Amino acid sequence: MKYPNSILKLIDELKRFPGIGEKTAQRLALFVVNKMESEHVESLSEALLMTKSAITFCPICGTFMEESCPICDNPNRNQKTIMVVESISDLIIIENGENYHGLYHVLGGTIDFTKGIEPQDLNIDSLLKRVAKVDEIILALNGAVDGQLTSSYIQELLKEKTVKVTKIAHGIPVGGDLSYADQRTLAIALENRITLKE
Ligand SMILES: [Zn+2]
Repeated sequence: MKYPNSILKLIDELKRFPGIGEKTAQRLALFVVNKMESEHVESLSEALLMTKSAITFCPICGTFMEESCPICDNPNRNQKTIMVVESISDLIIIENGENYHGLYHVLGGTIDFTKGIEPQDLNIDSLLKRVAKVDEIILALNGAVDGQLTSSYIQELLKEKTVKVTKIAHGIPVGGDLSYADQRTLAIALENRITLKE
């Protein structure tokens, strides 16, 4: 017996999620049909639609926002420091530590020629436009080859600018990234950041 068309359609849609293959998609679809209360199905669909329509990305720092940016538009944050991170998930990891109260700049990845990711694919130009307004740029990219390459590239671009450039002291194995570091390690890495340029 084949699944009815509506279930096949649901399976196809579920397979769009990363890490969800045919079998898991089938299991989830059957769960929806057999076990899930109608009201929960409704609130799940609403949550999907709401998230997609309400969330945009801040044109300045690149993080998620609804009506205003929770970082750039927060007057209690230190407006003179920008931490450069690879992704919004790294930003969230650092925010959860509550040790950093400045601004951010989300690059949207790292330079990686093996994957065809070049500097122009990242939010680097928009970072350069913000430099004049701040005193310090903290590079908080991963310690692997791509992170180091990206840090050096940005460092080179900032050479002639009047801004202090620092780099978080990783304290985690080379190749590790922020998501593997615990909050205590991150706090120490931030505290002991290395000055690359005064
Ligand atoms: Zn912002």
